[in-house]
Amino acid sequence: MHELEELYQEIILEHNKRPRNFRSLDDHTAHAEGNNPMCGDEIEVFLKTDGDRIEALTFQGEGCAISKASASLMTEALTGKTVQEAYAEIDRVMQLLKEQGIEPDLARDGDIAALTGVRKFPARIKCATLAWHALHAALKGEGNTSTEE
Ligand code: ZN
Repeated sequence: MHELEELYQEIILEHNKRPRNFRSLDDHTAHAEGNNPMCGDEIEVFLKTDGDRIEALTFQGEGCAISKASASLMTEALTGKTVQEAYAEIDRVMQLLKEQGIEPDLARDGDIAALTGVRKFPARIKCATLAWHALHAALKGEGNTSTEE
């Protein structure tokens, strides 16, 4: 296996085993549930914003290793960022996962780059994007989202 692919896989496995910010948030300002019926993943995202700043971002739920690791990576990457930065990062991740020919930039994307490991498994892309869809719904004030919509 390619060295970079190995690193990506390690990051995913590690985040699945020890997910960051894996809890609900009592004083959240928004939340949304994401469903991926294809795989059975259910991820709920909790968000606390102070003005334009994301003070806390957590998630709960059950899902496969990829959906959980992706949510964990997302909460780590976006806590402390602005809402605008979060939207930009959601767009970036969707591009990285869905568009051909876009390669991750390790300096810019950090551990998020590890998600591109699933591009070889098209059926799992929805697992990787689920938490990001849920965050998008939470930011927009929508309660629920499904990968089937
Ligand atoms: Zn899944």
